[in-house]
Amino acid sequence: MAEGIVPGERLVIASHNPGKVREIAELMEPFGIQVLSAGELELPEPEETGRTFAENATLKAESAAEAAGLPALSDDSGLVVPALDGEPGIYSARWAGPDKDFGLAMDKVNEKLGDSRDRHAYFVCALALAQPGRETRVFEGRVDGTLVWPPRGSLGFGYDPMFLPDGRQETFGEMDPAEKHAISHRARAFRDFETWLRRAG
Ligand code: IMP
Repeated sequence: MAEGIVPGERLVIASHNPGKVREIAELMEPFGIQVLSAGELELPEPEETGRTFAENATLKAESAAEAAGLPALSDDSGLVVPALDGEPGIYSARWAGPDKDFGLAMDKVNEKLGDSRDRHAYFVCALALAQPGRETRVFEGRVDGTLVWPPRGSLGFGYDPMFLPDGRQETFGEMDPAEKHAISHRARAFRDFETWLRRAG
């Protein structure tokens, strides 16, 4: 029996974020996989109690797979700043507060960095695929860069305006979305997942 997900099979996207669901549905289209969202199936949202991106992605995917009795895919991502002992890390979304104010979150990162000369940071994306009766698989992608101040650009989302990827002149906030998607942590994790799907399917 194939280990991957086969054409015609249904896959639950363990996310209540319509943007993420749409992006993943588009990526799955060439594989003939039918995508359903945790939101449309009214699945509960588990608490993210893991200590790493991979643990949180696994927790979300396994909870959805168990509730739906179908394979489920989830993603967990964030910004890691080594000079801040890895913060905001898995708390990247929470640093923006209840109003999801990323201007505030970026201010906080910059203030905490103070005059530190080490402004290296990286984004991580962990994708977890849980299949009933099988071991969960995690695919991770990472992109390294430098944190700039003041933030530049109004494209993208989250911490994009203060993130200058290595070897580039533009921050993710100034970059055309297609250009960002070619090198982003999310794209890298998806490429690994797609390679595995092609091999396993
Ligand atoms: P999640 O949706 O719980 O995985 O939270 C991820 C958080 O990490 C987002 O709310 C953003 O703050 C941050 N983040 C993840 N990926 C990116 C990115 O590509 N650009 C900017 N911020 C990101």
